[in-house]
Amino acid sequence: MSLVRKAALISLLMGSWIVVTGQQQVAFAQTQINWDAVQKESLELFLQYLKIDTTNPPGNEIRAANFFAEICKREGIEHKVFEPFPGRGTLWARLKGDGSKRPVILLNHTDVVPHSPEFWTVPAFGADIKDGFIYGRGAMDMKSLGMAQFVTMLALKRAKVPLKRDIIFLATADEEAGGLQGAGWFAKNHPELVGKAEFLFNEGGSNIVDASGKVLAVGVGPSEKTPVWLRLTATGEPGHGSVPRPNSSVNRLLRALNKLMEYNPPVQITPAVEQAFRAISPLMPPGVAEKYANLREGIKDPAFLRQLESDPAARALTRNTISITMLSGSNKVNVIPPAATAEIDTRVVPGEKLERWIAELRGVIGDDSIKIEPVLAFESNASPTDSELVKSVAEVVSRCHPGALITHPVLTGFTDSHFYRDLGVQSYGFSPFIAPGRELGGGYHGNDERIGKKAYVEGVKFFYEVIEKLAR
Ligand SMILES: [Zn+2]
Repeated sequence: MSLVRKAALISLLMGSWIVVTGQQQVAFAQTQINWDAVQKESLELFLQYLKIDTTNPPGNEIRAANFFAEICKREGIEHKVFEPFPGRGTLWARLKGDGSKRPVILLNHTDVVPHSPEFWTVPAFGADIKDGFIYGRGAMDMKSLGMAQFVTMLALKRAKVPLKRDIIFLATADEEAGGLQGAGWFAKNHPELVGKAEFLFNEGGSNIVDASGKVLAVGVGPSEKTPVWLRLTATGEPGHGSVPRPNSSVNRLLRALNKLMEYNPPVQITPAVEQAFRAISPLMPPGVAEKYANLREGIKDPAFLRQLESDPAARALTRNTISITMLSGSNKVNVIPPAATAEIDTRVVPGEKLERWIAELRGVIGDDSIKIEPVLAFESNASPTDSELVKSVAEVVSRCHPGALITHPVLTGFTDSHFYRDLGVQSYGFSPFIAPGRELGGGYHGNDERIGKKAYVEGVKFFYEVIEKLAR
């Protein structure tokens, strides 16, 4: 007999329960956790974690991996630290389930982006608490969620909750620079530790709360746009700046870039984007709501499409995009260089084929002498929106935030999830931190990054409930 069952019987004898049913065992598990104590501890651990400088570059994520490893050791949680590149640590930890269902991965990155101290009012690694906010680089992106995931594992372990699925906690390096030395390296080199998983939770969720605090929507993001970063190189006869050459490398490159700048890629409504708009349509005003509910039809109305695309984020979801970001030519003003290069940040809608998109761009440029090479590029898939994971979130939401919609936002940016979607793991962006904008936090990749203390501690509990629902 498990300790949990034994304790349940004791409770029963003491009159806390009338009959023991499966339903009540769930309730019992919840009563086993002293949430005041867990939330207090989750705050203390979060502050310690925020004080660890994991600015990428250079990363030094091994500090974070060792921090988690130390606690795992203390708590008797199976774990392993990997350091495939000096300083770039990744931690893998596991709570075993009974194997009747496939594992769920809690994925988080431990690195943070650089900051400019002159623009911060507090030290970026001081973990100050001020006016109800917890400050620190990583407070939003994503040490708060990483810690909520970790505390969830701790709480499940301590309460000896019987699990059907393994819970795999994976804290990885390098996400902010593309993840190839972190989540990408791990997926490629240790698929045996993660590849059998059915589900994965990661950053990238978004929720909608009105000013009064009413939760309107909780997002479970099944997909994201993907980067196709390209290097364009033009070559030409070099020479002296005093004798212009119309077909110089720089001129050819500028002609190509000009065509790209003027190019407006066609609207492409993929199923994931269609689903994202449909899910949010009930929150839209009449007239617009019907168009959101059936986007493919809706965009045939030019006025609606114009209105939709006046929002740059909405526009980015409805087509592939191109941003010209890096240029280099001669390093001397009077020298016509033999080569000029540009790097462009293009992003494609989920489901787009790499080859097809590059061929389209080649056609737009119309100059075969320009070399086009991918710098970072991958194809992306979308995870289903009717999976058991989505249903588990919906059930907890209906209990904690009755009336809130479940939406399926598609990110315009990208996370490490694609590495795991490629392994066949259904992966979702989900944030348990739910509060009106002014209380949630801010400074994401910016100054004075912070998260509301209340939003954080409540989010820890909410995340636990979702995972318990899915894995128990
Ligand atoms: Zn992040």
